[in-house]
Amino acid sequence: MKMLNYLKFKLISLDCQKAAPLGVQSGAGLIELNKPCNVAELQCIHDAPASSAYQKIQKFTSLEETLQRREFIKQAGLGLAAVAGTTAIPVIAQSPPPPQSTTLPTIKWRMASSFPKSLDTIYGAGEVLAKRVAEMTEGKFDIRVFAGGEIVPPFGVLDAVQQNTVEICHTASYYFHGKNKALSLDCTVPFGLNARQMNAWVYYGEGLTLLRELFAKYNIVNFPGGNTGTQMGGWFRKEIKSLDELKGLKIRIPGFGAEVFSALGAVPQSLPGGEIYPALERGAIDAAEWVGPYDDEKLGFYKVAKFYYYPGWWEPGPVLSFYVNKEQWEKLPKPYQAAFEAAAVEANVTMLASYDAKNPLAIQRLVQNGAQLRRYPDDVLKAAYEIAQKIFTEESAKNPDFKKIYDSMRAFQQTSDIWSGLAEGTLANFMQAQLRVRK
Ligand code: CA
Repeated sequence: MKMLNYLKFKLISLDCQKAAPLGVQSGAGLIELNKPCNVAELQCIHDAPASSAYQKIQKFTSLEETLQRREFIKQAGLGLAAVAGTTAIPVIAQSPPPPQSTTLPTIKWRMASSFPKSLDTIYGAGEVLAKRVAEMTEGKFDIRVFAGGEIVPPFGVLDAVQQNTVEICHTASYYFHGKNKALSLDCTVPFGLNARQMNAWVYYGEGLTLLRELFAKYNIVNFPGGNTGTQMGGWFRKEIKSLDELKGLKIRIPGFGAEVFSALGAVPQSLPGGEIYPALERGAIDAAEWVGPYDDEKLGFYKVAKFYYYPGWWEPGPVLSFYVNKEQWEKLPKPYQAAFEAAAVEANVTMLASYDAKNPLAIQRLVQNGAQLRRYPDDVLKAAYEIAQKIFTEESAKNPDFKKIYDSMRAFQQTSDIWSGLAEGTLANFMQAQLRVRK
């Protein structure tokens, strides 16, 4: 049976003489009961018929559940004024207790994004987070988003958060591959998990726990903050028909993907999104990978490199992340932490939905504008896969951070791939064949 600690006397008609011995007035319209009472015990203080009293008392059980006794008393500025035994309980003409939010502080954070504002999807996740957090805290938790380079260079954002120069950043962990290759596992690795598998591993497997352990070493609390889905395999100025044609090829690509290309004889480059187009245009690089049809179209790569390869085997389900300075996170009031966590999940899943809605149309426009689609030759895919496995084995042997997280991810992938291929994969293959025939 539900027990009450408080009795709200404005809501019911009390027989005051009977009510007074039950408790003391602890605020406007509220009596703190001497001991927890159930509804039946309280019916004796009501001067209405028992059934009516029962209904009215039931109504404020929800109020009672939401009250934080100590905070209420503090906010109301009232001590525990004892109610005289035979005196009628006064209904004090006073405002109801202020809502919790008025007591919470105004907090301003700066978010350094690694991405240009022109990319509404990938940059936009930061704005989704900021908007939703503000809405849930009546504007008191104010996160302002800055594009890559505005206040921090695109690849400097992790250091900036670690050092508390900014409170938060939005980025892709594989930009910091050189710092610790285990960091890349927060984003993606060649032939790794797809977007759905990443979410499953992070939210319901060991993923988030293991990644939080890693990022704690950098004074950071990490949150998944978007996923592009499987990416495309980049824009090439010349067609690649075999492995040999990768020799000496200058390609913009980050993380482990760069290591694999390097082992295949190419010369990887690291460039932020906003600098790729001019480098490709003037021939400083021969090829560049970015994301997929929608973003790549916005950056205009089809104008300077027409061969568009697929799939992006080095990015099967890349996660963009919010990284928060650990001390700043721990200082946040609990309701702000809850709002942030909810908004981060929303930013994470809506980015993928946005891409899934926009990419199918963008790929059609790109082809109409002259892009030529090319599948990676099998020998390239096979060689890349073998090299990737060798790189992971070598890294595992010398980097305990990497081994611990990669082993978990790989074990998850083994069982997940069997399941996803069974029902969804089979149906997807069948349906694609049907739709191609019938248009
Ligand atoms: Ca990419």
